[in-house]
Amino acid sequence: MGGLSDGNDGDRERSFALAQRANELMRDYGSSATPRAYSVWYSYVSGAQPLLNDAVKRLTMQSGILSDADIDSLYETYLDSRRLSAEAERMSTNVLAEIEGIMEVIGLSLGSSAQYGASLKALSKDLDGVELTRARTREIVAALVATTREVAANNQALEARMRESRSEIETLRETLEATRIESLTDTLTGLANRKHFEDSLQRLVEGAAAGATPASLIVIDVDFFKRFNDLYGHLTGDQVLRLVAIVMREHVKGRATLARFGGEEFGIILPDTDRTAAFAIAEQVRGSVMGRELVKRSTGESLGKVTISLGVAALQPGDTPISLLERADRCMFMAKRNGRNRTVDDTTALTEADLPNVA
Ligand code: GH3
Ligand code: MG
Ligand code: MG
Repeated sequence: MGGLSDGNDGDRERSFALAQRANELMRDYGSSATPRAYSVWYSYVSGAQPLLNDAVKRLTMQSGILSDADIDSLYETYLDSRRLSAEAERMSTNVLAEIEGIMEVIGLSLGSSAQYGASLKALSKDLDGVELTRARTREIVAALVATTREVAANNQALEARMRESRSEIETLRETLEATRIESLTDTLTGLANRKHFEDSLQRLVEGAAAGATPASLIVIDVDFFKRFNDLYGHLTGDQVLRLVAIVMREHVKGRATLARFGGEEFGIILPDTDRTAAFAIAEQVRGSVMGRELVKRSTGESLGKVTISLGVAALQPGDTPISLLERADRCMFMAKRNGRNRTVDDTTALTEADLPNVA
């Protein structure tokens, strides 16, 4: 008992320490004490979601606070998966109810068929060696006809019920598929969402471990995007995010996964692509975004240009999805530090970050 309870006490202690730290941060960074804010900050101090931590660091570095709007956006992006799971649960309950209904009808119909068989058998036994009068024959035939009609009606009802169930199940299947796709798609841009991105990254790392093919990851962050939002509004900002998605689609073909995995952070997962090729793609996307003059649709007003910073990491032996993503992220940060609107790959980042004593 001693060992176990030590472990649990340790976990409890740790959870209280985390809660306290979450509370302090919530106060220090100007968030309201809402359940959402608490979830975000608790998840932050626990470090369970590195991407959320990244996003929090960036947001707080920028403005020194984490506003309620930031909290909402972080919560929705990184923590809220309840809506879709509730949807899935509702549908599986419906499917079960539907199946139960069918089983019931089939049970009833089997019962009535068995009964029909039994009454025919009884009748033929009754008739054995009996001299039939016309009247008795008519009676028997009438009874047979009535029972047969009843069975036929039952069968028809069963058939109708089955047809109904079939179309109901078909609808459920379509809804389920739509929900599955929705659960993997970012609604703003139509790109893969963070969950889809993480799944693909996992598959990339596993796939590459089997073969010896190269693979790369590009991470993209919009430059001075907060300023852009402040100047022109969030909705116009959203248009910029859509533009980046369009440019990504234009330049990346084949089996790549294109994702928006954070607010204004994008990822391109490139199987069968080495660092040089990935760098070239990153540069094409960068050049193309930079080349677009943004115009406000409603007024025709020019909004100037937007640039992006990119990090490129090539998959190495021993990489995990997290280590690959962190390396690409570090490269992207270096691109920011070096003046933004540029691409940095992990040859540069590695020589600077990992070999500090060489120079
Ligand atoms: P930097 O060049 O250092 O990246 O500067 P930045 O202002 O872009 O800094 P950061 O990457 O931290 O900016 C995040 C900003 O992106 C905060 C928020 O205003 C904006 N943002 C995040 N998600 C969305 C979104 O879904 N829509 C819009 N319009 N803006 C978003
Ligand atoms: Mg950012
Ligand atoms: Mg940015």
